[in-house]
Amino acid sequence: MNLAQTYLGEKFLQTTLNYILNNPERNLPALVSLAEKVARDPNHKRNIESIKRIMNDENNVWRKYALRLLKQTHPNVKRKVLVNFFLNASLLGVPKQNEIAKRLGTAVPFTILVDPTERCNLNCTGCWAGDYQRREELDYETLDRLFTEAEELGIYLIVLSGGEPLIRKDDILALADKHRDQVLHIFTNATLIDDDFVEDLQRVGNITFAISIEGFESTTDERRGKGVFKKVINAMEMLKEAGIIYGFSATYTRKNTEELGTDEFVDLMIEKGNVLGWFFTYVPVGKDVDLDFMATPEQRAFMFEKMRHWRQTKPIFMVDFWNDGEASYGCIAGGRRYLHINARGDVEPCAFVHFATTNIKEVTLKEALCSPLMKAYQKRQPFNTNLLRPCPLIDNPEALREIVHESGAYSTQLGGADVDEYVDRISRYSRHWGEVADDIWAKYHPCACQEQARASAD
Ligand code: SF4
Repeated sequence: MNLAQTYLGEKFLQTTLNYILNNPERNLPALVSLAEKVARDPNHKRNIESIKRIMNDENNVWRKYALRLLKQTHPNVKRKVLVNFFLNASLLGVPKQNEIAKRLGTAVPFTILVDPTERCNLNCTGCWAGDYQRREELDYETLDRLFTEAEELGIYLIVLSGGEPLIRKDDILALADKHRDQVLHIFTNATLIDDDFVEDLQRVGNITFAISIEGFESTTDERRGKGVFKKVINAMEMLKEAGIIYGFSATYTRKNTEELGTDEFVDLMIEKGNVLGWFFTYVPVGKDVDLDFMATPEQRAFMFEKMRHWRQTKPIFMVDFWNDGEASYGCIAGGRRYLHINARGDVEPCAFVHFATTNIKEVTLKEALCSPLMKAYQKRQPFNTNLLRPCPLIDNPEALREIVHESGAYSTQLGGADVDEYVDRISRYSRHWGEVADDIWAKYHPCACQEQARASAD
């Protein structure tokens, strides 16, 4: 019996959702009331209160966003994603994760990020996964076991990355079919999306995407290869037509920050049907490591301000993986809210932190959560009282050094990585960002109310 059945009865839930989704504009308030009844976590109750206020204001950008999302999404996708994400993963999954975490004495995350393969059909400059050997795979049986173990822990959002995950399309569809209570969110270069696959996506309904893009055509093609931008736009149009939920994923570097930070870029993404967007800053791990490719602290500050502006003006849900540290009360890695399992099976705290103490082929997910590396991570979180400096990799590298030495973690990087060498190289950047970030923090938090930030994040 799944979680939704346990609490409401699947039939009742489906009937109610069908009614709401037939006319979202009129029936959305009913959806919010339904969520209000199901919510058990006090933070969820508070969030639902805010959503109610938004829904009553016709000019609110988030109301426009919700209606756009519901109108453009295929009925089967809407049903699956609403039930699996909002009910299973959030309203019911989070309390279960918290309950199990108390028993285990270690955090149970909201999501896990898994690489089914490290093979890729592109060869992008500065890829964070480019230092892997491009041969390793997690076989179907291991992935299936992981999905099952995740469900047992109350985790109903599985993120896939790579390599290019869609090289394993058939296995992914089989997993989505078998694990029908899960939402799969796939980071992809989108070049392998075709008509047959799109038909399968409508059928299974529980797969969503984040599509990599670097800016407009010449910038995208320069980093990802000639012709890739056109293929990306074509894939977005196919997914939009089919009513699949997807967004973009963009990495800002020293070269493209000002381009990604334009209203024109975000408007193009909205026009092409993206309902979410991930911004990452380039980190010097992976292929062709280059500190001069990193966005400068001033560029990172520019993106911080742009995000604040867009959140008031653009009907799209966007996250900046580093600059939104305040929303998540700092770093989410190390099993606190997520962890990463690479295609070799190494259990890493984060996709960008290439160290591990366990391999999922030898342990269960529960055992991996209790590993020395995750414990060393969690006991130091948050890594900084300024939540705009959340990261042990680029903002607080001394913490990374301590964690690796204390846990005895091995490097998962091709040829091995020396943590001391890395920390020495990144320290100048982190000091400089520290100064800029402290100014921004003081500007927006004259009384620096940490407890309040924690309450709203947890
Ligand atoms: S380790 Fe850094 S990149 Fe990874 S989740 Fe934490 S803050 Fe983000």
